[in-house]
This record gives sequence, C-alpha cells and structure tokens, in this order.
Amino acid sequence: MTNTITTVTDISHVAICDRCNEHYYADSTAVGGFLFCGRAYCPKCAPESEKSIEGYNEQHMITDRARPDERYFDFVMRIRAGNHSIVVTAPADDPMHAIVKENVAGLPEPKE
Ligand SMILES: [Zn+2]
Repeated sequence: MTNTITTVTDISHVAICDRCNEHYYADSTAVGGFLFCGRAYCPKCAPESEKSIEGYNEQHMITDRARPDERYFDFVMRIRAGNHSIVVTAPADDPMHAIVKENVAGLPEPKE
C-alpha cells in the first residue's frame, strides 16, 4: 500500500515560458507572448511559434494574448488569476515531488 502525499510549490515570483523554459521575473521588460493550449509562450518564442501554429491552421487554439505593451511577466500573472502554485499529488516515493522541488531550488532568487 502506497501513501499518497501532496506537495505545493509557490512560483508567484516567476513567469516561465512553457516552450523554452526561460524564466522572467518582475524586473523583466520583455513584452508580448500568448497562451496556446494552456501553455504560455514567451516573447522570444512567440513569432516563430505563431508561424508554426498558422501552418497547422490552429490559430483558434491561441486563447489569450498579452495586451499591447503588456510585459510577459504581467501577462502570465494575469492569466494565472492568483493561482501561483504547482501542486503534485502522488505516492510519496513518486520522483515528481523531488523534480519540482529541485526545479524550484534551481530558480534564481527574485531580484530586488
Ligand atoms: Zn520561450
């Protein structure tokens, strides 16, 4: 019998691109990005990715975009709508618990 546990990791200080994994913090000035199939694409990935998405005629699957002049960090904070947690519910020995903790430990501290 396996004991299931839940770990919650707060990521309210960082916006992560779901395509290239780059981290954007509150002091980032990068503007743009969009949401495709529930994944946030950063301003660096957006132009090339959008061409690919258009090639598959999947533009309708872009469900939100950064507003004009909206920074990617602010865009991601807006679409999270206050939910800044990564929640893992799995058996206690599931490696995903450690993977999430290690990723958070590897995140640079928020810049002042
Ligand atoms: Zn990216």
